[in-house]
Amino acid sequence: MDSLGRDSAESGSKDAAFPGGGLKPNQVGETVLYGIPIVSLVIDGQERLCLAQISNTLLKNYSYNEIHNRRVALGITCVQCTPVQLEILRRAGAMPISSRRCGMITKREAERLCKSFLGAHSPPKLPENFAFDVSHECAWGSRGSFIPARYNSSRAKCIKCCYCNMYFSPNKFIFHSHRTPDAKYTQPDAANFNSWRRHLKLTDKNSPTDVAHAWEDVKAMFNGGSRKRTLPSSSSHTSTTLILLCPQKSLIHETVWYLTL
Ligand SMILES: [Zn+2]
Repeated sequence: MDSLGRDSAESGSKDAAFPGGGLKPNQVGETVLYGIPIVSLVIDGQERLCLAQISNTLLKNYSYNEIHNRRVALGITCVQCTPVQLEILRRAGAMPISSRRCGMITKREAERLCKSFLGAHSPPKLPENFAFDVSHECAWGSRGSFIPARYNSSRAKCIKCCYCNMYFSPNKFIFHSHRTPDAKYTQPDAANFNSWRRHLKLTDKNSPTDVAHAWEDVKAMFNGGSRKRTLPSSSSHTSTTLILLCPQKSLIHETVWYLTL
């Protein structure tokens, strides 16, 4: 397996000085999910798992559409692999020879997806009255406290701005900014239904893992289909399938609230 990764490292990535900390581009590995070995591949410095293989093994009792819709509802985007990477996956036995494409998701995302079908949730335990310290850099940027206990609908005013103490919904908050002395202006990109999930980040990039995971779970809430779903022009690295096969109705009710509050 290792030789496969080395063979293709050259053609698969254009980045020589890779900051992956030992992870070589297109390095093949294996990770065990629910007792099943799944092939992994290092893409952009991150180990990603083959969604097709997960679908064909762990989630084989579910249809393509069910898996796709759940993935979208959980806010998981897949990275499409290149022809070279596809060939590596085939040789590693992750994909049938006939497959022409494959989406790759991170291990953490794979776990969330599988958990949502197979159960065995272990909700992150957050202290009572917990708030995420979040920031965005749209326009002059802002910082606030995202209070999950207040986040009971997509429009809930659950973020308290730390500069003016006003409450905003996530969608509104990314358009709310303060020109602090060291702020730099970033032109906000086109507004779309889900853009706050891309722009709003935990202020502390080194948040403890359980906090980072809980934040991902919170962001996945109320992220089901909508009449206002993102248009194809919005993002280049989200998968094509996500755009082509938009769920027609909302999956909000299937999104599980993982937090214990
Ligand atoms: Zn404010």
